Amino acid sequence: MRLRFAPSPTGQLHVGNARTALFNWLLARGSGAELVLRVEDTDAGRSTAESEAAILRDLRWLGLDWNEGPDVGGPCGPYRQSERLHLYHSYAKEMVGVGRAYPCFCAPAQLETDRAADLAAGRPVRYSGRCRQVSPSTAERRIASGERPAIRFRVPEEREIVFDDAVRGDMRFRTDVIGDPIILRADGTPAYNFAVVIDDALMAITHVIRGEDHLSNTPRQILLYETLGFRPPTFAHLSLVLGPDHAPLSKRHGATSVAEFRAKGYLPEALVNYLALVGWSPAEGGAGPELMPALELARRFSLDAVGHSAGVFDEEKLAWVNRQYLKIAEPTRLADLSVSFFRGAGVPMTPNGEGLAFLAAAMPIASGSVDRLDQVPARLSFLFDYLPERTLADPLVGEEMRSEAARAVVRALAEQLATAPRLDRERFRAAANDVKIRTGQRARALFHPIRVALTGRAEGPELDLSIPAIDRGADLPSQAGLPSILGCRERAAAFAAALDQQT
Ligand code: GLU
Repeated sequence: MRLRFAPSPTGQLHVGNARTALFNWLLARGSGAELVLRVEDTDAGRSTAESEAAILRDLRWLGLDWNEGPDVGGPCGPYRQSERLHLYHSYAKEMVGVGRAYPCFCAPAQLETDRAADLAAGRPVRYSGRCRQVSPSTAERRIASGERPAIRFRVPEEREIVFDDAVRGDMRFRTDVIGDPIILRADGTPAYNFAVVIDDALMAITHVIRGEDHLSNTPRQILLYETLGFRPPTFAHLSLVLGPDHAPLSKRHGATSVAEFRAKGYLPEALVNYLALVGWSPAEGGAGPELMPALELARRFSLDAVGHSAGVFDEEKLAWVNRQYLKIAEPTRLADLSVSFFRGAGVPMTPNGEGLAFLAAAMPIASGSVDRLDQVPARLSFLFDYLPERTLADPLVGEEMRSEAARAVVRALAEQLATAPRLDRERFRAAANDVKIRTGQRARALFHPIRVALTGRAEGPELDLSIPAIDRGADLPSQAGLPSILGCRERAAAFAAALDQQT
């Protein structure tokens, strides 16, 4: 079996196309088939090298790989259509030679007039067939005099094209509705339907898995396979990816490209796991999304189980899946990934090994309770961003902290920590206990002022985790590459002083 994914490099990788790539990958890796990546860049006006690079990078980021492609080479190259023009030209010439294709000299304005006439008469819009009649000698003369014709495929009349789609079942199309399509444009670039057939045939592709938007192209392609004497592959057309409101997934729904999901802090394994479940399920009637690594998904994947109703992409479900993967991800990896999110959140950093080790140790404070990496900086902001005056400026927090009981707790805490070593969990508990004995405050009346004074926030992660992290951070040298972290001793003193300024 040989499969392929054939992106057009005209923008970012959309999650719908990423899912098409993923289904090809799942089938290939689950069955031992080869996977080819082919870049369909014949639309010179819209294709860019940047887009090709971005698409390949995003596919790799998702963890997908391929056996042949423009970047890895292979026996059926080149793998960019723009480098295969000679092949399309030679097949087009051959088709013209045997009368299965013909030069078309119709000017764009003429075609536009024909189209308007079709529409006005309520007929389906299709090429009139005007140039079918041009004799080969006339065509030659016109070409010799400098005219540049397009080449059209002479579609056989009165035929029914039948194929068995691996997802959608029996498909039937009549050829009467198909006007002779252009296979080679006047500028020498091939039409999609032509290039795709020649490439899939020469690359020995056995299964074409692609979006349902290409379903109506398939009969034309099958006719071209026939005409060129190639054996058509098995086709599988995946239903579109829709938003929760059942409209095709678009900007209106929020993020749509893989790059955007990466920038929002989704992990690739979460996006892969979730995308695999859009329109496919590894087991019948399972409750909720099933979490499993990509290779396990591949082991279970089969085209028979791909549904023909549209797949709904729901970012809330993706977020749930991501949360599960964040919980089990290696803290070192998350620390590394979170750096750009800290920077994005206005916390400049260039951590060295020690700085990263610190972030990794702090990561469990955040990673168990966020959906995405872009939420990590806010969860850990208490480390880098501490200003008692700002905390006290909050009306509710300020009022509570100015109460006699809270002032007493903060004062006792500052005194207690003034001579104490940096806090680990046990020393923090002991210090809190001393403050309890000295002030007679307990439970919330004790711990809430301590939280506010040491973290600068009324809410946040467990103190048993956050306090030791603050004091570990306070001892980091500047070479660690993180913004400086004020220790608990200094925080308690600063908070007590700020409180003293307030009446
Ligand atoms: N280049 C086409 C697209 O991006 C793929 C067509 C195909 O898979 O046959 O839609």
